[in-house]
Amino acid sequence: MTKHHSSHFATQAIHANYHPEAHQGALTPPIQISSTYAFETVEQGGAAFQGENERFIYARLGSPSQQLLEQRFAQLEQAEAALATASGMGAITSAMWSFLKPGDELIADLSLYGCTFSFLEHGLKQFGIEVKYLNLSAAENLSRHISDKTKMVYSETPSNPNMRLIDIEALAAITNKHDCRLMIDNTYCTPYLQNPLSLGADLVVHSATKYLGGHGDLIAGFVAGKQQDIDEIRMVGLKDMTGAVISGFDVSLLLRGLKSLHVRMDRHCENAQKVADYLSNSPFVKHTFYPGLDHFPQKQLAKQQMHQAGGMIAFELDATREQSAAFVNALQMILCAVSLGDAETLIQHPASMTHSTYTEEELMAHLISPTLIRLSVGLEHIDDIIADLEQAFQSVFAADSGLTISA
Ligand SMILES: *Cc1c(COP(=O)(O)O)cnc(C)c1O
Repeated sequence: MTKHHSSHFATQAIHANYHPEAHQGALTPPIQISSTYAFETVEQGGAAFQGENERFIYARLGSPSQQLLEQRFAQLEQAEAALATASGMGAITSAMWSFLKPGDELIADLSLYGCTFSFLEHGLKQFGIEVKYLNLSAAENLSRHISDKTKMVYSETPSNPNMRLIDIEALAAITNKHDCRLMIDNTYCTPYLQNPLSLGADLVVHSATKYLGGHGDLIAGFVAGKQQDIDEIRMVGLKDMTGAVISGFDVSLLLRGLKSLHVRMDRHCENAQKVADYLSNSPFVKHTFYPGLDHFPQKQLAKQQMHQAGGMIAFELDATREQSAAFVNALQMILCAVSLGDAETLIQHPASMTHSTYTEEELMAHLISPTLIRLSVGLEHIDDIIADLEQAFQSVFAADSGLTISA
């Protein structure tokens, strides 16, 4: 990036590493869908395989538009390098398969995205990698359990679905004393709200399906970190083990999504703060978990490592598990769906949906209350979001209790 060099996030997200004049003036980078790349000679091809020239070889290793996306994303995430993948799970699994071998141990936080938990249980464990779950909100739990066998520590922050924060700097201070990588899933925050690498993490992964794409029309992922680690993940974890290659069409949609990320995130955060304030004053809600609330238990940590409080809220109703489900069913505009970070406000009941395979004991062990509800606050008008929540509360609870609520 020479002509538009800027350290401002918004400018980088729109201009970094792309010059229209190199593409006949095209404002939007071309979609590249070529699966393979032709060489002038066998010798030129041979040199590409030896890494002696910068030519593209085959799309499982990358393409010019994918490279643009990766370089731009690396700038946003303050990383040396980044790799785009076919899904968030493709990023997580490609990175883990690259650095873990039988006999190694991975320590993960207690609360994880459901499929990440399944992968640790059904993937890594089958291949002789030991997995231990700790409450990493208290960093001393890691100090107590880390050993020479521990080769990776993995966490989301805020954690899905219960919004606990993990102190990235505190964990990095511990993993740095060992031959152990700290990998953080930054999906909830995006690089606009939190930069785990600058706080000491070694690797950061994303589901780009969520806020980064932002429009519910693609599945993709990223992993970012040191050049050497990213090269290893590209050439081993992705090329040989998962094959989780992003399509050229999704590269194009993601480049488009990134251009408005900062504007969308600002509005997601503004709307979520208002919804969290509303929920924490509702007589039907027992607990609201949102880092922007004054009574949020980790408010100080939120200020320290997040630039804003984000668009995700978790809350527990003062109700039964069945009533919590009935509340979700009574919503009219807000959509009952998994995924998050879209323009549409999305809600789900983890105990009935994403975490329905957990037994009652497992839910408790992983700190997920059966009445917990997860809300991804969208970009609709704030009054319409709150009005929908209010009418659903009234229809499920006010009728039973005779309570009437004045807004
Ligand atoms: C969605 C999600 C994933 C998985 O990403 P996919 O793109 O669906 O494969 C991983 N971590 C978190 C926190 C997520 O929300």
